[in-house]
Amino acid sequence: MLDKLGLQLELSKTEHLYRSRKVLESPQSVEPIINGKKVLSFCSNDYLGLANHPDVIQCFKKAADQYGVGSGSAHLVSGHSAEHHALEEELAEFMGAERALLFSTGYMANLGVVSALCDRHSEIYEDKLNHASLLDAALLSRARRIRFPHVDMEHLGKRLTQSNSENNKFIITDGVFSMDGDLAPIDTLVKLANKNNATLMVDDAHGIGVLGEKGRGVIEHFNLDNKQVPILVGTLGKAFGTAGAFVTGSEDLIETLIQKSRGYIFTTAMPAAVAAATRTSLQLLEKESWRREKLQSLISQFRKGVSELGFELIDSMTSIQPIIIGSSEKALALSEKLLEKNILISAIRPPTVPEGTARLRITFSATHTEEQVDKLLAILNEVTIE
Ligand SMILES: *Cc1c(COP(=O)(O)O)cnc(C)c1O
Repeated sequence: MLDKLGLQLELSKTEHLYRSRKVLESPQSVEPIINGKKVLSFCSNDYLGLANHPDVIQCFKKAADQYGVGSGSAHLVSGHSAEHHALEEELAEFMGAERALLFSTGYMANLGVVSALCDRHSEIYEDKLNHASLLDAALLSRARRIRFPHVDMEHLGKRLTQSNSENNKFIITDGVFSMDGDLAPIDTLVKLANKNNATLMVDDAHGIGVLGEKGRGVIEHFNLDNKQVPILVGTLGKAFGTAGAFVTGSEDLIETLIQKSRGYIFTTAMPAAVAAATRTSLQLLEKESWRREKLQSLISQFRKGVSELGFELIDSMTSIQPIIIGSSEKALALSEKLLEKNILISAIRPPTVPEGTARLRITFSATHTEEQVDKLLAILNEVTIE
């Protein structure tokens, strides 16, 4: 088996699907130093510019002095610090939920929640464009999986009514789709879940911090509450600018996860200093609504400019503004040309996105300037004409 790996790697290169890492030599920012040179980046998920915020760094340092670096064990053993505990309470209050529970990553939160709640007698209805971690979570749970076409509510409604009424039904969706930036129709999903006695779970990794006046994400955008979306996952590595994830829900849901979720129980707690830093970024995220307003104005500027250039845009109001290119070869070539002009945008290719929809996934941060967006538009124009 191992002897074949070299051949498979060569093949992925000829298909323009080979992936490689660039080395970052600066903090995450809109102008990071990558592979030794300063570039203008449009591909970070640090949507609010908090990853390198002085107050967040200050809290991180202070907590490291107080708690050290490693948390030393899992939450249920001896790793659950006062900082973790306070952050959970603050996140629950922010989201308007009874309780919140921290996980070490969003990937693990999804695996941990779905596999704790679903088994062979469950049915999981998933949007075809759900994040890989949700798809993996459903596989791990051994539930029967039903994948519906992207945001096709009619199709989902039909499939739900055809199902075996004895089974526990779960509808699981991204709030904001990570490679397209469009929103799931959460209001319709709430109705379908109620009508069919199904449980709705939303992963709002890209919505929290970005959508809603207070930054509560899709639930605020659709004017819903935590009873209507009884299981909600948020991540801390994106708009929060730190690392980790959380789940919100009822007292019973959270206590059940503490008892049963393997992705919670069998892993080391995130460092206490990360939790402390996140408490500060939560305050900034909630209070500084100018970051969301600035982001929206940069997004409008970009969408207007790029449609004048004749590119096809996805109907997205979020920081994620992909330009669909089609072939992996072309998307990769464009990304390389952009890098020659010091613009960093990664080419997203299958299997991350469906065949034939390779794209430049452009993302914006509140710390971009209007001039930087103009520069992006000018250079996009240049490289696509060349
Ligand atoms: C990034 C992301 C995750 C994973 O979160 P991590 O904390 O990076 O592991 C989960 N779901 C969605 C939709 C994401 O975009």
